[in-house]
Amino acid sequence: MSYLKERILKDGVIYPGNVLKIDSFLNHQIDPAVMKEIEREFYDYFSDRKITKVMTVEASGIAPAIMVAAHFDVPMLFAKKKKPSTLKDEDVYSADVYSYTKKTTSTVMVSGAYLNEEDSVLIIDDFLANGEASMGLVKIVRDAGAEVAGIGICVEKSFQPGRERLEKEGLDVYSIVRIESIDSENQKIIFKEGH
Ligand code: 5GP
Repeated sequence: MSYLKERILKDGVIYPGNVLKIDSFLNHQIDPAVMKEIEREFYDYFSDRKITKVMTVEASGIAPAIMVAAHFDVPMLFAKKKKPSTLKDEDVYSADVYSYTKKTTSTVMVSGAYLNEEDSVLIIDDFLANGEASMGLVKIVRDAGAEVAGIGICVEKSFQPGRERLEKEGLDVYSIVRIESIDSENQKIIFKEGH
């Protein structure tokens, strides 16, 4: 069994609404050993692609994304959820993202200074559920005239439509762990084979 599956079974907590809490090693406290494994797996899968940048949304995607970027030796760019006063409207690429866990919509943005048509971008995120966060990043990359090289997800909730939405866009999604279903009554997670 993979390290991430094992850790989810050991430390994951199921919340109402099919939300999986993995705060003890990925979403709050971060275990570098888990991050190293995540980095290695994403690197193995995406190493034959031309990648000039790794991109994510703050905050939970930052840890895995910086590890992967370091392995590819390229910059990591994260979309911000709040617009800093130093960023002017005309310099920004943005997308509206509805948060599944927070039940709110936020506009995520990156500065136009850090993305251009020469870029080939690997998108990394902690979870894939309805695909809102990833679709927002795809929009930003494409608005900048850049290309999406692939999407790497730590934990995919395959019973939600995120992967389907991304694949419809012709994108290659690689998830380290896929969850087929969550039985909240019995605190059980059923995994799905494949990536
Ligand atoms: P999506 O945008 O694909 O609907 O949801 C992915 C985003 O929502 C991730 O960036 C993650 O922060 C959050 N998310 C969705 N489902 C879960 C979950 O079950 N557990 C946690 N911790 N975050 C989730």
